[in-house]
Amino acid sequence: MKTPHFAIVGAGTAGIAAAILLARQNIRVTLFEKVSTLEPVGAGLLLQPAGLAVFEHLGILDHAITLGAKVRGLEGRLPNQQLLVNSHYQQAHPDFYGLGIHRATLCHVLEHKAREYPELITWQMNTEIERYDEQHHEVRLYGNIAGQSFDQAFDAILIANGARSQLRPQSWVKFDQAYPWGAKWTIVPECCDLDTEILHQFHEGSKLMLGVLPTGAVPNEPHKRLSSVFWSMPTPHLDQFLRRNEDHPAWIDHIAQKWPDLAHWLKQHVVHPHHQGEWLSAHYRDVVMSKLGSGRVGVLGDAAHAMSPQLGQGANMALLDAWALSKSVESARNNENIDWPKLWQTYHQHRQSSTNFYQFLSRLLTPLYQSERWWTGPLRDFSFGWMYRIPYFRKEMALTVSGLKSGMFTHMQYQDIASNQNIATKVSVSESVKIE
Ligand SMILES: Cc1cc2nc3c(=O)[nH]c(=O)nc-3n(C[C@H](O)[C@H](O)[C@H](O)COP(=O)(O)OP(=O)(O)OC[C@H]3O[C@@H](n4cnc5c(N)ncnc54)[C@H](O)[C@@H]3O)c2cc1C
Repeated sequence: MKTPHFAIVGAGTAGIAAAILLARQNIRVTLFEKVSTLEPVGAGLLLQPAGLAVFEHLGILDHAITLGAKVRGLEGRLPNQQLLVNSHYQQAHPDFYGLGIHRATLCHVLEHKAREYPELITWQMNTEIERYDEQHHEVRLYGNIAGQSFDQAFDAILIANGARSQLRPQSWVKFDQAYPWGAKWTIVPECCDLDTEILHQFHEGSKLMLGVLPTGAVPNEPHKRLSSVFWSMPTPHLDQFLRRNEDHPAWIDHIAQKWPDLAHWLKQHVVHPHHQGEWLSAHYRDVVMSKLGSGRVGVLGDAAHAMSPQLGQGANMALLDAWALSKSVESARNNENIDWPKLWQTYHQHRQSSTNFYQFLSRLLTPLYQSERWWTGPLRDFSFGWMYRIPYFRKEMALTVSGLKSGMFTHMQYQDIASNQNIATKVSVSESVKIE
């Protein structure tokens, strides 16, 4: 009997998680990754309860918790010290929390798990896939390994090569554009002056946004706790930010006028001459697809739905994609045969309405935080102020941040994702997972 063999392009969050979950079903996977070693540089990110449910499903939650930083909620403060955002995971469920995690740690726990399947997962590093050709009974990939051309046939291709993917089918792309705003970020020692279980944000209008996220530790220094600092700005200005030493005092003074304690801490840790980390730039894209899979081709993660990180959902959505894909393969597979139309129908049922919901909200909210328009900040401050006073909205906001929403009035259940039971049984017993 021939075991199905999938190609996954991109060993990021989506690609590695999908490889593990397919290997668990005895499916062979080749992971193609263009860099030669997985050494992700990058700011920390916040894994929401939805992403942590997939971690539990993958069996890596405990490992991630030993290194990451548990987060109770998000607090966004205005210059008058009022809370603009005050969302705590417990408002969605008493047991919920988020996990601040360094990108290297996220990659480490996923890779560690994937290495448990050496017979089923082949790592093809230093290999860039340039194009593919879908035939009736196979997909042929073309690329180069360390500069040498090659081609190889597979039963299917999963495109998980990030926001700038050139491989996603162009006829499925409804929208693909760079955001006009990005961020500078740096890694610093954990900020103990602020509550270390909260993602802190500081806002003035829609032009100033600073974030401090507890990020936990990296695998090779497990006792050194870290935080990530984010500073939002329009992309044309990113390269100029704090380039000269003389720029530092003006930046600190600007913050000190609103939040003196924060400015004091930043001065000590971020602009101090001994600050080891550098400020790096993050650019975002907005990608909307009409379809996530068809025939022998599927698209996962940022390649399928890149968005601004305002809602902190990108990695969570990548993990949910991997989870839904593995469930869809499970339900469409009969030994070596896979019913491809059924696979993609199930995948769309799991992912499309949730993806649409988060993309809609991200497009609605991002300009309220990052925009040159004078009225977006006051509009946000006014509307959020009354929204947080209404318990229904408080809970809905916490569920949204948790990453579990599947539509305006529906949401998924943590346990249905985390459990290892067959999805057919789970969907029939769960009334709250409404697939639209
Ligand atoms: C500043 C910032 C903060 C963020 N904060 C959060 C947060 O708090 N919470 C959250 O959930 N998300 C957050 N995100 C988003 C999150 O990082 C991404 O959504 C997530 O990493 C996407 O994973 P992915 O696997 O789809 O893509 P990626 O992680 O981009 O992986 C794609 C991989 O494909 C490889 N590749 C590319 N092209 C090819 C090719 N042709 N051949 C072979 N390999 C290729 C790349 O080298 C890369 O390793 C943030 C993003 C940014 C920029």
